[in-house]
Amino acid sequence: MSETVTKKLMLFFPKCECEKPIIYHLVKDYNLVVNVYRAKVTPEEEGFLVLDVTGTEDDIHQAMEYVKTFNVTVNFTGKGVTRDEDRCTHCGACVPQCPTGALHISDAATRQVGYNEADCIECMACIRVCPFVACASAF
Ligand code: SF4
Ligand code: SF4
Repeated sequence: MSETVTKKLMLFFPKCECEKPIIYHLVKDYNLVVNVYRAKVTPEEEGFLVLDVTGTEDDIHQAMEYVKTFNVTVNFTGKGVTRDEDRCTHCGACVPQCPTGALHISDAATRQVGYNEADCIECMACIRVCPFVACASAF
């Protein structure tokens, strides 16, 4: 029997795919154990999920190939969240929510928001509050 592994993923759903029962099929058809941390729909009705999947490497690979057929972007994450510099408007909403200071005001004059991935503990608080999905999608 193949060894199981756990991988952390972010799935980014285009507008029309948010309602499809993709998670159901990951469990039923690909034998994965799925642990969803966060789910969010943006004002533009795009959606994303942050989740762990546990299964064999082969099942995870097959499952992600299936997911991609729905035009869903799959981002395998390692440590910390990713911040998309193009999406970030430096609005500052995430800074008071970040418990470690990984997200911080890096320039008092310009109010630029800096991100130090090494300090991130993956609490996902910034993903919950970011109005621009900058903390979730480096796609
Ligand atoms: S909440 Fe989002 S857009 Fe605002 S500063 Fe933080 S990462 Fe950037
Ligand atoms: S996930 Fe938590 S610790 Fe990491 S940057 Fe976001 S708010 Fe800060």
